[in-house]
Amino acid sequence: MSIEERLTTILKEVPPKVKLIAVSKTQPVDALLAVYRVGQRMFGENKAQELLQKAPNMPGDVEWHFIGHLQTNKVRSIIPYVHTIHSIDSFRLLKMVHDEAARANRTIHCLLQIYIATEETKFGLSEIEAIDIVKRYKQEQFQHVKVVGLMGMASFSEEEQLIRSEFRAIKKLFNQMKEVYFNDDPWFKELSIGMTSDFKIAIEEGSTMVRVGTAIFGERQYITG
Ligand SMILES: *Cc1c(COP(=O)(O)O)cnc(C)c1O
Repeated sequence: MSIEERLTTILKEVPPKVKLIAVSKTQPVDALLAVYRVGQRMFGENKAQELLQKAPNMPGDVEWHFIGHLQTNKVRSIIPYVHTIHSIDSFRLLKMVHDEAARANRTIHCLLQIYIATEETKFGLSEIEAIDIVKRYKQEQFQHVKVVGLMGMASFSEEEQLIRSEFRAIKKLFNQMKEVYFNDDPWFKELSIGMTSDFKIAIEEGSTMVRVGTAIFGERQYITG
């Protein structure tokens, strides 16, 4: 199947109200352009350097989503390009994004990355840490970042029940936060859960943004050495 055919197949499985982020990390600009021509506009990258290489070579109406661990010293460089950052994992990072966005006169959408997997390898905040960040965010009244929701990655597992329970846990936290802290804030509405292996489960569990790479572009080729 071609990239175009794969994208078309996935689009049939993603309801219109769920945003499809095409995760294009490691893929060449030609591959991104192929899905752009089919109508895809949201692309996800996980490395600042790679985003900086690709963004100037893609049409200006692409909406760039940053989905990887972001070091504070890389924030300034990506601010001119990035629309949404899914991977806020500290208040310090959120404030840095705010300050750099203010400097560039931009407003960046941010999601807090929550640790939901039972395995030890994934990044993210505990529920307590996330609530603490939200409280500080509310106090600061930042003008240049909007916290629009939560992101999570389920365990890398074949066990559907495990994945489903992890997605339910983040959805529950989302609902609690919405009620307690964002009741009057229409921006807080996104739940970024679901990748190639589990996006259908994620959609059933309330995802509003799925981040799909392999199912669109095929297996990633990592260059080593
Ligand atoms: C790579 C990546 C994805 C997409 O993974 P696939 O399994 O290729 O769909 C989604 N989210 C994050 C944070 C990623 O790093």
